[in-house]
Amino acid sequence: MNVLEIKDLHVALSDGEGRPQTEIIKGLDFVLPKGEIHAIMGPNGTGKSTLTKVLAGHKDYIVTKGSILFLGEDLLSLDVEERARKGIFVAFQYPVEIPGVNNAYFLRTALNNIRKMRGEKELDPIDFMKLAKAELKSLKMDPSFLNRSLNEGFSGGEKKRNEILQLKLLNPILAILDETDSGLDIDALRIVAEGVNSYHTKENSVLMITHYQRLLDYIRPDVVHVMVNGQIVKSGNAELAVELEKTGYEKFAS
Ligand code: ADP
Ligand code: MG
Repeated sequence: MNVLEIKDLHVALSDGEGRPQTEIIKGLDFVLPKGEIHAIMGPNGTGKSTLTKVLAGHKDYIVTKGSILFLGEDLLSLDVEERARKGIFVAFQYPVEIPGVNNAYFLRTALNNIRKMRGEKELDPIDFMKLAKAELKSLKMDPSFLNRSLNEGFSGGEKKRNEILQLKLLNPILAILDETDSGLDIDALRIVAEGVNSYHTKENSVLMITHYQRLLDYIRPDVVHVMVNGQIVKSGNAELAVELEKTGYEKFAS
């Protein structure tokens, strides 16, 4: 079973009124079998973050051609909420700050939404806190994080850890992580990687986007893809990432 199946995807930026402008993704093919970890690497401005936003259902981007299946179902016909409820989680490269929205409240609401969908009992604040505190501990995060506004004043590394906290609590089917390693020092990187590895199972898949091979020392991908100019131009095993680190992306540029 494939978690994701993307065929000949073309994506353009919207002009704000639903009309396609510049094309960013230009015929991308990608398959992620269930339970696998795939990495997409590539130079700046090649459309990696655009791909994560399209998967999340961001309205600034328009799919002009091609298809995306999530567990065999047409993903593009689902709205943002439905995608999350069905088990897609996206950690964006630049997590948004939401002043005035309490982190614990946000997390509990998101979790209960998903629990409802799965037919599980909703958690009250006390049960939620117990669960969240155990996860915080494993991520070496201070419990006070839960009482702060979502991402407000969080350092880059704290935002990334908070994303992993969300990931661990929500336990989605597919985790899409956009440069979760950026801005992390080596200890934080290890903690975040441990979080991702403990999330990953035969049932849970990971798509991670990264610039550097560094993260892949801690999270071993089954497949590494190189994305250049809106397309996947090469795929290989984990060794490909090591090779890229040495040679750069230039030889793939057309
Ligand atoms: P990557 O994540 O690979 O660095 P992005 O997907 O962020 O690349 O961006 C791909 C290209 O699309 C870049 O040239 C970027 O400037 C452009 N782009 C993406 N989103 C927007 C936007 N909202 N407005 C204007 N340009 C955008
Ligand atoms: Mg990006």
